[in-house]
Amino acid sequence: KKTKDVLRTDVRDLLRSGEILDEAKLEEFYRGLITTDMGVAAATEVVETLRKEFGGRTVVPDKIWEVVRTQLKTILLGESGTGWDRANPIGPLNIAATGPTVILVSGVNGVGKTTSIAKLARLLHGSGRKVLLAAGDTFRAAAVEQLTMWSKRIGCDIVTKPPKSDPASVAFEGCDQAVARGADFAIIDTAGRLQTQQNLMSELQKIHRVIAKRIEGAPHESLLVLDATTGQNGLSQASKFSEAAGCTGIILTKLDGTAKGGVVIAIRQKMGIPVKYIGVGEQLDDLQVFSADDFVNALFD
Ligand code: GDP
Repeated sequence: KKTKDVLRTDVRDLLRSGEILDEAKLEEFYRGLITTDMGVAAATEVVETLRKEFGGRTVVPDKIWEVVRTQLKTILLGESGTGWDRANPIGPLNIAATGPTVILVSGVNGVGKTTSIAKLARLLHGSGRKVLLAAGDTFRAAAVEQLTMWSKRIGCDIVTKPPKSDPASVAFEGCDQAVARGADFAIIDTAGRLQTQQNLMSELQKIHRVIAKRIEGAPHESLLVLDATTGQNGLSQASKFSEAAGCTGIILTKLDGTAKGGVVIAIRQKMGIPVKYIGVGEQLDDLQVFSADDFVNALFD
């Protein structure tokens, strides 16, 4: 919402104060874009395009909107330029050629990791897939309980170990059981950690390594859960978690609140990591396949 408000206000002002798009107005617009956390590169790119197409000329507001929207969508969609079908929950995932598709999930504390895992399990289970959860957050007993409760509600399998067990051993066991039970998906939870906690980031690296050793090509997805209220810190989260766990996608949570998720534009542009799913509430069904179209349009509605 904040992203949205900034953009709307600035563009409104920009157009109200005169009909000619001059350098001062472009600069003002640039500053507005920067406040949204989309990053210098994306904001510069947008402004450059506006300068080229409309600089020094009288513009129709709708045309500016269209150019801005198109550009941000292009950044969010990356090289392929195509998004996913919202109706196909499997669409964003890289699927294993044979055996279970392993999804490692990581993120800082409180971003909505455990909830997102449950929601994703529900989506996959709901589309007829056999899902197994591995309760790798052995640090917090409540996390294991929470995930166990969700698994019962969803009707999917779960692997747990006693509190304080080595999370890598839970991940290994999860992979083992997924193979043994013929699961289509193994979703592996990890404890929340700050990207600045070296020892915990090494632990995450170890979890990733153990999974890769147990199943060739795994993890097929390494999803970073990012809270939409995160500003520029999201960049450092994406960078550090990627170093440890080779992130292949983002679940952007809490988009139902007054959140600005603008930083995902910067992350996509800098690191090429796409948003794959969005969280829009606290309930099991509040996870959706990411749509760049909807995301960008929502910024301007
Ligand atoms: P974790 O520590 O990262 O595992 O976070 P949790 O999954 O325990 O979630 C932390 C809080 O955020 C809980 O109160 C969740 O209900 C809430 N939450 C998670 N995802 C969303 C979302 O998409 N929208 C909203 N409004 N709340 C969410």
